[in-house]
Amino acid sequence: TATDLNVASRRAASASAFARAQDLMPGGVSSPVRAYKAVGGDPVYIRSGKGAVVTDLDGLEYVDYVGSYGPLILGHAPDTVLAALSKAAARGTTFGMPTEAESTLAAMVIDAVPSVEMVRFVNSGTEAAMSAIRLARAATGRPAIVKCTGCYHGHSDALLVEAGSGALTLGQPSSPGVPKDITQNTLLVPFNDLEAARAVFEAHPDQIAAFAVEPVGGNMGCVPPVEGYLEGLRSLCDEFGAMLLFDEVMTGFRVARGGAQELYAVTPDLTCLGKVIGGGLPCAAYGGRRDLMEQVAPAGPMYQAGTLSGNPLAMAAGIATLAELENPDLYGQLESTTRQLAEGLATRAERAGVPVQIARVGSMLCVFFAESPVLSYEQAVRCRTDRFAAFFNAMLERGVILPPSQYECWFISAAHDGELIKQTLQAAEHGFAAAV
Ligand code: PLP
Repeated sequence: TATDLNVASRRAASASAFARAQDLMPGGVSSPVRAYKAVGGDPVYIRSGKGAVVTDLDGLEYVDYVGSYGPLILGHAPDTVLAALSKAAARGTTFGMPTEAESTLAAMVIDAVPSVEMVRFVNSGTEAAMSAIRLARAATGRPAIVKCTGCYHGHSDALLVEAGSGALTLGQPSSPGVPKDITQNTLLVPFNDLEAARAVFEAHPDQIAAFAVEPVGGNMGCVPPVEGYLEGLRSLCDEFGAMLLFDEVMTGFRVARGGAQELYAVTPDLTCLGKVIGGGLPCAAYGGRRDLMEQVAPAGPMYQAGTLSGNPLAMAAGIATLAELENPDLYGQLESTTRQLAEGLATRAERAGVPVQIARVGSMLCVFFAESPVLSYEQAVRCRTDRFAAFFNAMLERGVILPPSQYECWFISAAHDGELIKQTLQAAEHGFAAAV
């Protein structure tokens, strides 16, 4: 159509960059969601970002709610982080020998996150989750782990298990290349279902090393825990001698400084962190009780290592970011900005006559195109993804860039101000009109 042509020519530079990339890299991207498969069209190529705004290769500007999928709680290129990075880079980028910055960031994490008494830095959330599971197995001597359908803990083999068409079947791999014998020790239960959690413990006595969970589901949209769920998991783990593992890669330093465990006052045995703690550089961590962490090599026998782990640039960006998060007003500001956005979106969707469920915890938000609240993966998969795609594309045309999937959270940063929220809500009037 004429509009399609118009859109294509407005983003000619992105289109040609993507055409080139597709010949060089699978799907043209370094991570699948970036390819816009769920929403159609070519991905927007980014040239730069500052605050809450990104600029694409064609010079078009967008209010950004991707936020690199979570790390950028201060927005793009904050001055303090840039200064810390250039200072650190001038001293050298990596040594494979200890630097003091690791202890500085470790102390900040331990100070903020209730369950963390010691911490080990790694490079990605995938590594953090994979390593924390290994530690739970080492500490308990048990083989099995429980994960919830719709929760994502990175792409390591044993954790890349979701509900496919045979939802809730035991250990069904969700990717070719993951042998059944690797996932047979991964037990699946629905999120927000304590009865199912009890049943899996009772069915596998003395076999379960850890119950791993995103305390706020952030990879099936935004799915808050129902009241009592996290407390219930804590008691079940205590009753059955298993580790409670909170994957706070997304929620850590995001929904509160001390993460979801602070917000909901439930303390896990082990915690995974990532995203925010690296201030936009590759960095993640796992931590927990001292007696558990002391089982990690070289203090203990559980092996885990990394050439670039604790990288000086990542440490510098993390320290500068976490320092800003000590500002006592910051989380209140994020909360009120995000509430304003959520309420404005709800009003506009209603006016347009589009049924949506707006889920929000702190500065994580999701607009589910659904008739009733989404509390699990089983409910999330029933969303109207066609409506989401129409909404996404209409928003993009009006200068608002969202994560290109119904099942990714929007991330609001401290750089999203009232003016940008207003702009977003104006765009949303058109967005919802397109999604009817
Ligand atoms: N755990 C959670 C809760 C996540 O949201 C993610 C990534 O989105 C991961 C683990 C994996 O982290 P990474 O992509 O850094 O490997």
